Amino acid sequence: MDLKSLIREVPDFPKPGISFKDITTLLKDGAALRYVVDQFDGHFRAARPDVIVGAESRGFILGAPLAYQLGVGFVLVRKPGKLPAAKERITYDLEYGQDALEIHVDAIQPGQKVVIVDDLLATGGTISATAELVKRLGGVIVGFAFIIELDALKGRDRLAGYDVLSLVHYD
Ligand code: IMP
Repeated sequence: MDLKSLIREVPDFPKPGISFKDITTLLKDGAALRYVVDQFDGHFRAARPDVIVGAESRGFILGAPLAYQLGVGFVLVRKPGKLPAAKERITYDLEYGQDALEIHVDAIQPGQKVVIVDDLLATGGTISATAELVKRLGGVIVGFAFIIELDALKGRDRLAGYDVLSLVHYD
């Protein structure tokens, strides 16, 4: 399936010079949404993950149906202040400033196999922070799944040694 034709490129969003990859145009296409989840399923099913982790917020949209299809649970990694119970937090650097992500401390049991899902891999900052949270809880990462990878930003280098699946590539 030609997923790229369903991804809208929005120039100068959220700031001048950025070409934003908008997946809402893909998500509203039922066949395309199913294709994406099926591709993730087909790639990672053999690794027998115990849990799927998604990063807020587009990781939720893709991670939850993947978990459902595999018959495993789904774990949320959220922006600060959203999770109600005891949690682990990581702070990470952005181009300008810092951001943080949180996970419930009881969300993953030590030794559980985890696939981490997000919509897009750019610099890899968000997904590396998510991976660090999973590792702190003792999760064993079996791979990462994205719809889009921005190759020039080399986020893949930060995930060296892991199985990284991206369905669509941009330079
Ligand atoms: P990274 O942390 O630099 O790898 O950026 C990835 C995160 O930023 C993901 O959570 C994406 O949802 C978001 N992101 C960055 N660029 C885009 C874009 O062009 N379209 C949609 N999301 C983006």
